[in-house]
Amino acid sequence: MLRFSVLASGSSGNAVYVETEKTRILIDAGVACKQIETAMAEISVCLEDLDAILITHEHFDHIKGVGVVARKIISQRRKKGYERTEIPIYATEGSWHDLHNVVKEYPEPYRKTVRVGDKLEFEDLLIEPFPLSHDAREPVGYVFYHENNKLTLATDLGYMSSRVKETVADADAYILESNHDINMLRVGPYPWHLKKRILSDKGHLSNEAAGEALVDIMSERTLDVLLAHLSQENNYPELAEVTVQGILAAANKQVRLHHTYPDKPTALYEIKPR
Ligand SMILES: [Zn+2]
Ligand SMILES: [Zn+2]
Repeated sequence: MLRFSVLASGSSGNAVYVETEKTRILIDAGVACKQIETAMAEISVCLEDLDAILITHEHFDHIKGVGVVARKIISQRRKKGYERTEIPIYATEGSWHDLHNVVKEYPEPYRKTVRVGDKLEFEDLLIEPFPLSHDAREPVGYVFYHENNKLTLATDLGYMSSRVKETVADADAYILESNHDINMLRVGPYPWHLKKRILSDKGHLSNEAAGEALVDIMSERTLDVLLAHLSQENNYPELAEVTVQGILAAANKQVRLHHTYPDKPTALYEIKPR
């Protein structure tokens, strides 16, 4: 059984939790450790139960809490007498460039490098990183495979290349960026250089672009899509949903759309085994 929850989502900070029977993974820790702990408690998991932390890229809204989370895991495991107290942190070489400063004295052997093309193997979970077009050093998204199930996490991308579409296609569920409404962004308060950055190929997916990408990548097996990384200034959850829904309907596609939140976790969604 593959289960997942978006613990926090948006420009203020991001964290995602994925679990199987034998593996528990945190992807990004872009909010305070306390918020991650509280969100995890709501779905009945503890920090010290995690098997690994994966990082998508070095932007602050994805790594802010990593150092504290990693140290807290070690101290709690020590208290409880765990044999192994450290937890591996996985990031691309590009992301490590800035991440080293955030995790400070974290032991070297647990700083793992992720390479596009490699697959990370955990007991009953396979994770495939894929490159994202975004203004970071070496940003990636992740595909999770468990038994016959597939989950894709893709936020922080200016557009989705056809090669990436092939990698992420045909998943049971997607956590997909639906960052902004193009018109709200255009007339909104952001300075022009920032608007240009967000709208560029290396920026963020608009609601429209998220809908169009979904039309290309989803299949009959796709049941659930979580709209993630919504801008608090240039979007509304309802607007994102209506826009994406409209594009899917026009293409004769159907899926359950779900919201994600900056300040609270989503439910723990479960992908039914096939
Ligand atoms: Zn971000
Ligand atoms: Zn980013």
